[in-house]
Amino acid sequence: MKRRKFLKNASLTTVALSSAISLLACAEEETNTPQISATTKPAPIAICTWGFVNANAEAGKALENNTTALDAAIKGVSTEEKDIKNTTVGKGATPNRDGQVTLDACVMDSNGDCGSVMCVENIVHVSALAKKVMTETPHVILVGKGAEAFAYKQGFKKENLLTQDRKKAWQEWKKTSKYQPIINIENHDTIGLLTLDSKGDIAGTCTTSGLAYKMNGRVGDSPVIGSGLFVDNQVGAAVATGMGEAILKSVGCFLIVELMRQGKTPQQACQEAINRIVSKNSNYKDFQAAFIAVNKAGETGAFCIHKGFAYMKYQNGKNNRIEAEYYVKT
Ligand code: ASP
Repeated sequence: MKRRKFLKNASLTTVALSSAISLLACAEEETNTPQISATTKPAPIAICTWGFVNANAEAGKALENNTTALDAAIKGVSTEEKDIKNTTVGKGATPNRDGQVTLDACVMDSNGDCGSVMCVENIVHVSALAKKVMTETPHVILVGKGAEAFAYKQGFKKENLLTQDRKKAWQEWKKTSKYQPIINIENHDTIGLLTLDSKGDIAGTCTTSGLAYKMNGRVGDSPVIGSGLFVDNQVGAAVATGMGEAILKSVGCFLIVELMRQGKTPQQACQEAINRIVSKNSNYKDFQAAFIAVNKAGETGAFCIHKGFAYMKYQNGKNNRIEAEYYVKT
């Protein structure tokens, strides 16, 4: 009798266990199932932060020539990295408070693979370098001198990134040494670029010198996967610009992709991520933060704290500047 009861209990337990397992499997299937599915495949899209017309057109045209999403994104941002007129990316960027130009970048592709470099000196194309970390090393992140040494091994050239013009501006800044990131001014020109290619695959990159006159060794959100950039090829992608410290604390881009997975549009997801930053930072009026996003269906969106942020969108041969909606209305 006892044995029969035991067997009965055991088989009930087995039934309960297997239903629990199948429930869990269902739950897992549900969370992994993308909510966004494109009925017709969208034409390739490139979107990027701020008004980087040329960089975005470069990426858009590369996509039209069937370049993969990640290579098109890297090609796009490389035009800004080498442009000395852009004072927050690549060559000609603004130095830290000790007069050194240190760059951060990351990439993420449609397989969910990623690479990142932080606080790198003397290398212009750090976005391409981040891709090399992804493809040529067993790691995701390389920093500082290690990243620089790796770059030379990969054939990157050593270049002085500090232009005379930026050196002068830094010497001028040193007279007061007042560290105050300015909203929408040139110390906020990080370029983040997201692409959806002709196969429907999504990738992105983000490249920057970070905030002007930052402390030596400071790294912001831009090269941090999840904060400055996140891609999930089943769902979509997001990239950030603005006050890195606030974006880091909310892991903004991962949040946006997860919100899109739950059915939010890119626009709604970006807005919710900004709301999160606003609710957690009582000083939100003192800084800018902005996100742009694209989903698998080719919808795009953007949201920021302060008026004045715009993004570029290239699709079907047209490269449009779109003013983003913003939180602070007064
Ligand atoms: N997010 C960048 C950083 O904090 C700066 C920017 O986008 O303006 O390093």
